[in-house]
Amino acid sequence: MSHDPATVARMQLEKAARVMNLDPDLLEILRRPKRMVEVSIPVRMDDGRIRVFKGFRCQYNDFRGPFKGGIRFSPDVTKEEVEALAAWMTWKCAVVDIPFGGAKGGVICNPFELSENELQRLTRRFTYELMPLLGPDIDIPAPDMYTGEKTMAWIMDTYSVFKGHSEPGVVTGKSRIIGGSEGRREATGRGVVVVADEILRLRGDSLEGKRVAVQGFGNVGSFAALYLEELGARVVAVQDLTGTVYRTEGLPIQELVDYVAEQKKQHEIGKIPGVKGFANVETLDADAFWSLDVDILVPAAMENQITQDNAPLLRARYVVEGANGPTTPEADEILFKRGVMVVPDILANAGGVLVSYLEWVQDRMGYYWELEEVFGRMERKLRKAARDVYTKAQEYQTDLRTGAYILALERVAEVFYERELFP
Ligand code: GLU
Repeated sequence: MSHDPATVARMQLEKAARVMNLDPDLLEILRRPKRMVEVSIPVRMDDGRIRVFKGFRCQYNDFRGPFKGGIRFSPDVTKEEVEALAAWMTWKCAVVDIPFGGAKGGVICNPFELSENELQRLTRRFTYELMPLLGPDIDIPAPDMYTGEKTMAWIMDTYSVFKGHSEPGVVTGKSRIIGGSEGRREATGRGVVVVADEILRLRGDSLEGKRVAVQGFGNVGSFAALYLEELGARVVAVQDLTGTVYRTEGLPIQELVDYVAEQKKQHEIGKIPGVKGFANVETLDADAFWSLDVDILVPAAMENQITQDNAPLLRARYVVEGANGPTTPEADEILFKRGVMVVPDILANAGGVLVSYLEWVQDRMGYYWELEEVFGRMERKLRKAARDVYTKAQEYQTDLRTGAYILALERVAEVFYERELFP
C-alpha cells in the first residue's frame, strides 16, 4: 500500500498525538494547513512560445513564527507533496527550537529541460504570483530539490524590485555576496552527520570506521558524504538518478564531488548530472543498493524510498534521513521491530533550516559571522535537539520519529495555549 505524502505526514502526526495524548482540539487544527495556494505561471520560452506551469506554496502553521521552508522545482511535485513538506518544516523548526513556522513551495517542471534564462523567468514570475504572501516577517523561502543560490538571488531581486529597496531577509540560502550566510551551503549535509554522530554517541558508539551508503548526491548527500569521510567513516556506496557506484574500501568523495560539479557547470539541456561514468569503481544495480553490507544508510534523495518492500532487506543498523520523508510508515514499523534505528528527517536534516535561521538573523542585524561561529551555533543546537529527541523517545518508549514529533508538538502546543485562539 502506498500513501500520498500528505497522508504519510498526517499518519505520523496522529501516531504521536496518540502516544502523547495530545489535546484533540489542537490536533484538529494541526491536521491541516493554514493556507494552500495554487498559481499558474506563464513563462515565455526561448523559442518565443508561452508555457504555463503550475506552482504551489503551502503555509502550514505559523504559531511559533513566520512561515519557513524551501521551494522545489521537479516534475514529481504535487499539491500533497508540498503540503507534507510544509508540515514537516513546522515540526522541524520546533524540534531545533527556532522561531519559525512551516511552509513549502513547488513548481511542476523539469529543470533539466529548461535553459537558465527560462528558469530565471519561471522563478521571477512565480515570486511575483506569491508577492503578497512573502516577506521577512511573513514567509521566507529557501532552496530545496533542484533550486539553489541562483534561484534565491532571483527571488530576492524580484521581491526587492517591487518593494523599492533590497530585502535580503526575504529568502535564505542566498550566496554570501547578497546577504547569504557562511556555511549555509554545507549546512544540511554537515548537520546530518552532526546528528548521526550525537545519536551514535548516546548509544555508546561512534562514526569511526563505519561503512555508509548514501542515496542522493545533491546538496545534502554530497556534503554529508564529505563530512562523514572527515569524521572517519567510510562511504562505500553512492546512488543517484544516474546510477550506483561502490568501492568496498570507501569512495574518494572529493573526486566524486568534483566529477559531478563539472557536469553541473556545463548545464547541458536534457542531461542529468550524476555519478554515472565515474572511473575505477564498481557499478551496481539500483535495487542492490538497499541490501549492501553497511552500518549506516543515509537516504538523501526524496520521499518514499524505504518501503515495506525493501525495509526487510536493509543490513544497516542506522538510517539517517537526509531527505524529507524517505521512509514510509509501514517501513518505519518494520525497521523498529528489527531494531534498526531511524533518525528522522525533522531532526537529521534540520541543519539547513537552522543555518537559514542564522542567515535571517544576520540579515536583520546587517552583521556577518565567521564560518566557525555559524558552525559552532549550528552544532550546539543540533546536538541539543538530538539529545532532547532521544530522551523524549525513551520517556515514551517509542521510536525517534515519534519522539521528535512529541517534542515539536509540545512546543507548538505551549505557544497555542499562551496565545489562545482568535476571536
Ligand atoms: N529545504 C530545506 C529543508 O527541507 C531547507 C529549508 C529552509 O532553510 O528554510 O529543510
